[in-house]
Amino acid sequence: MTRLLIVGPPGSGKGTQAVRISERLGVVAISTGDIFRANVKGGTPLGLEAKKYIDAGDFVPDSVTNNMVRDRLQQEDVKDGFLLDGYPRTSPQVDELDSILAENGQELDAVLQLTADDEELVERLLKRAAVEGRADDTEDVIRHRLALYHEQTEVVVKRYRERGIVREVNGIGEIDEVTARVLDALGQPAA
Ligand code: ADP
Repeated sequence: MTRLLIVGPPGSGKGTQAVRISERLGVVAISTGDIFRANVKGGTPLGLEAKKYIDAGDFVPDSVTNNMVRDRLQQEDVKDGFLLDGYPRTSPQVDELDSILAENGQELDAVLQLTADDEELVERLLKRAAVEGRADDTEDVIRHRLALYHEQTEVVVKRYRERGIVREVNGIGEIDEVTARVLDALGQPAA
């Protein structure tokens, strides 16, 4: 288990679980959302370009996102594996990742799907808004992000499901509990 994706709707706990799982497996966690936010904070050209989309809860255009991921996946620290969080989110991004991996002579081992229902997700994200103050955590923007997930990212999961590599995990429950389910789904011994 060295090349993995984690997918799930906003608020499903992808980022939290990604960090834990990557530490456990000894691979780098790469979050496209975190990379974008770091660029916004640093005022880089990429950040300036991405900010308007992120704040509105829209996807950053594939042309921008794909190049960023391609660059990241060429770096030395991902040679032995990675856990990608937040990519691919659209069907064209699946094609792009397929071609990046093929060029690197690599294959995905598994796609971890975290599930939770929309009302739970909205509630969690509104709570997070109160703590972290992310500009995209207002109720309207949260609902828009969820709608985009259903419209554009569910098909991503469907495509990987057809390849037989999806492991579905219930994301409802305590963080530790979900981590235990994820490790179990990946065939890893409990902590
Ligand atoms: P969440 O999954 O909670 O929406 P993320 O941190 O994964 O949070 O992503 C935050 C924002 O970053 C997204 O709403 C989108 O604007 C942008 N983003 C992240 N990953 C991608 C991607 N693969 N394609 C396009 N935009 C992305």
